[in-house]
Amino acid sequence: MAELILKADKERSAMRHHPWIFEGSVDTLKGRARAGDTVDVFAHDGRPLGRAAFSPHSQIRARLWSFDIEETIDHAFFKRRVAAAVAAREALPELRGQQGLRLIHGESDGLPGVIADRYGETVVLQLNSAGAEKWRDAIAAALVQATGCVRVFERSDSDVRGLEGLQARTGFLHGEEPGGPVAIEEYGLRLEVDIAGGHKTGFYLDQRENRRLVRELSAGRSVLNCFCYTGGFSLQALAGGASQVLSIDSSGAALESARRNLALNPQLPAKRAEWRDADVFEELRVLKKSGARFDLIVLDPPKFAPSAAHAGRAARAYKDINLLGFRLLNPGGLLMTYSCSGGIGQELFQKIVAGAAADAGADARILRRLGAAADHPVALAFPEGEYLKGLLCQVV
Ligand code: SAH
Repeated sequence: MAELILKADKERSAMRHHPWIFEGSVDTLKGRARAGDTVDVFAHDGRPLGRAAFSPHSQIRARLWSFDIEETIDHAFFKRRVAAAVAAREALPELRGQQGLRLIHGESDGLPGVIADRYGETVVLQLNSAGAEKWRDAIAAALVQATGCVRVFERSDSDVRGLEGLQARTGFLHGEEPGGPVAIEEYGLRLEVDIAGGHKTGFYLDQRENRRLVRELSAGRSVLNCFCYTGGFSLQALAGGASQVLSIDSSGAALESARRNLALNPQLPAKRAEWRDADVFEELRVLKKSGARFDLIVLDPPKFAPSAAHAGRAARAYKDINLLGFRLLNPGGLLMTYSCSGGIGQELFQKIVAGAAADAGADARILRRLGAAADHPVALAFPEGEYLKGLLCQVV
């Protein structure tokens, strides 16, 4: 097996079990390794650090599978790791029995570059690193064994694959195409999931608990849901007794899917729902001009800052929508606001929201800090895993 030797004093992060080894930390590669091959990793002074997947095209030159240099990386390894991830979800009461569930959350589940989401009897697998790519079949087989699911669909078409030198790849790895659309039930509501064409693996599972919170907060309130995608927050608001729900998204396909989801739940008061195909930045201004006001506003925009390099422009975009959000609230109204940008930390996000409130002339306070559901854990050694942060604010 090839050996990857780090530069002097570059072993600290791996010693603390951070799984990424950057190109700049590598001194030499002894022997030959191709993309995805397992290499032994050593500190400059010869201390063993673990076993990693080599990635010659990426700035993240290797991702550690194991911090034990004795651990063999083989089919049995993936069977163990996948089974542990699935069992960890089953052990948590809030996750047990969820039909839509993240089974593997990459680095934080000890499987760098591997994302697996379960939708009913279907697992959607996304492989984002050269190492994950190499072990595709082992990971898919382990998922079938650990879950009993009847099909595994690969959805490896994220942008980050390009950085690893990997082409997009989608299709069934196990089982056959289902007869109709894949659907899940989430806290009493039926939702269609477009596993082949939807965002991420088809749905935003990370917001599950926050959608439930919206349901609890919606009774008698007028709700504005910005960036509504397939209507998850909107439908829970209706289920919670909202007096009206206006939902905005700039994707016609997402809105069509949202309308279908509403129709799948005939118990909901469809007449209280309005869907608007518009740019949120513009539409919030239109609403302000028309004198509209709401009791609860959800702002769950796409990733404005994928990395810290985009933070400046992203900060202005977050400030803009939050400022308009505060201005559109009735007295006592609630703003539920999110950032899923890795490049914007919790502290910075709070500063941006505080700046928006100040500029809107709103006295607001934080009622709750929000994040991703427990099936999206964050390994303490891997703070990069914490991407979703939210605030529930109330204006006086
Ligand atoms: N809240 C959703 C997920 C939101 S994803 C849920 O819980 O499921 C972000 C959404 O924002 C996508 O549907 C995308 O189509 C939409 N979007 C992106 N930019 C937009 C813009 N400028 N105006 C309106 N919608 C936008």
